[in-house]
Amino acid sequence: MIARLKLKPNKDKPLRQRHPWVFSGAIAHTRGQPSSEKQVEIVDSKGHWLAFADFSLRSQIRARATSWHHSELPDTAYWRSLLEASIQRRNQLLPTTEARRLVFAESDSIPGLIVDQYDNTLVMQALTAPADARKGEMIAALSDILSPDAIVERDDPMRRKEGLAPADGVVWGALPDHPLIITENEHQFYVDLQAGQKTGFYLDQAENRAALAPYCAGAEVLNAFCYTGAFSVYALAAGAGHVTNIDSSEHALNLAARNMELNGFQSQQWTPVQADVFKQLRLWRDEGRLFDLIILDPPKFANNRRQIDRAARGYKDINWLAMRLLRPGGLLATFSCSGLISRDLFQKIVFGAALDAGRDVRILRHFSQAADHPVLLTFPEGAYLKGLLCHVN
Ligand code: SAH
Repeated sequence: MIARLKLKPNKDKPLRQRHPWVFSGAIAHTRGQPSSEKQVEIVDSKGHWLAFADFSLRSQIRARATSWHHSELPDTAYWRSLLEASIQRRNQLLPTTEARRLVFAESDSIPGLIVDQYDNTLVMQALTAPADARKGEMIAALSDILSPDAIVERDDPMRRKEGLAPADGVVWGALPDHPLIITENEHQFYVDLQAGQKTGFYLDQAENRAALAPYCAGAEVLNAFCYTGAFSVYALAAGAGHVTNIDSSEHALNLAARNMELNGFQSQQWTPVQADVFKQLRLWRDEGRLFDLIILDPPKFANNRRQIDRAARGYKDINWLAMRLLRPGGLLATFSCSGLISRDLFQKIVFGAALDAGRDVRILRHFSQAADHPVLLTFPEGAYLKGLLCHVN
């Protein structure tokens, strides 16, 4: 018999509005033996059926709705049809297969599964215990639908919250023996599928990199938290005078250097700096170093609610310092990929930074995640990347 979670009174509204998450605190009691390997069903406090769901024993997000129809218990064919729908949405949007996100977890109604496509290679992450349990089915369906050369699995810290062991490696097919090079908006990048971060490349910034390029002509650019230098390649291609790449990871900077060469830039056009951004910006402030355009694209500072205040202080600190390092009329492209920091809060943080820096700041545009990372209206948590392009006087 299918296990059943009964909600406490008045805890059914989010699910009725098709928000997929059920927190442990909303559950009154459990019937049967729920496990990550099987679907559970969720009923309200009066026993009315609400949804089928994935079950995660170790996570505060105890269940994630997978189907809203009693007649539609998710099975292999169901998951395959969701994968096909997800891929179809991308085909509609981005006919290129060169580099794009194919599946964005809850936002594509497939909880916990991320799939990025780099040409004939797919990279997947299973972020929840049920998504991990379904991996085999998903790999079989993906290989059948897309006939990739290889499917690679990458680990993510989120897996630890679900009690899952680290997972990395080729799970289907074989990787070519030459390094993987992808094309994004006509620029080329090496992607390290074994040791890179996340799925190897930050596809969510693709549109923002292109949007920023026109402001880079002739500019002295600082790319802080540069990772493998994607923003820098766009900046130099758009005629930036010089780019400084700063990151704490030697591995990322090495790949950034190779990406600069791959796109035909000379070593005098860019400078790598391996350092902690917080410390390095302070050093440059003390030296009176100035830039025309600064990109701040830090990693996620807030992983849970308890970290929000500390994250806000971190964002304020780097933004305040960056404003001090800009020539009058300089531009700051500042981002946050912390889902827990809302767009409003982020703007308030940047406002606080401007006050402390004593600068007049105007927002020229708002940034968000690329369209292949869609936001399901019933799941606003899927909107995690926000950014501002600021004119700083
Ligand atoms: N802008 C990049 C993605 C940035 S990811 C792109 O478009 O591809 C965040 C990067 O910040 C990672 O490369 C990580 O190594 C680096 N990082 C994290 N903390 C840092 C710190 N305190 N100082 C410098 N770099 C840091």
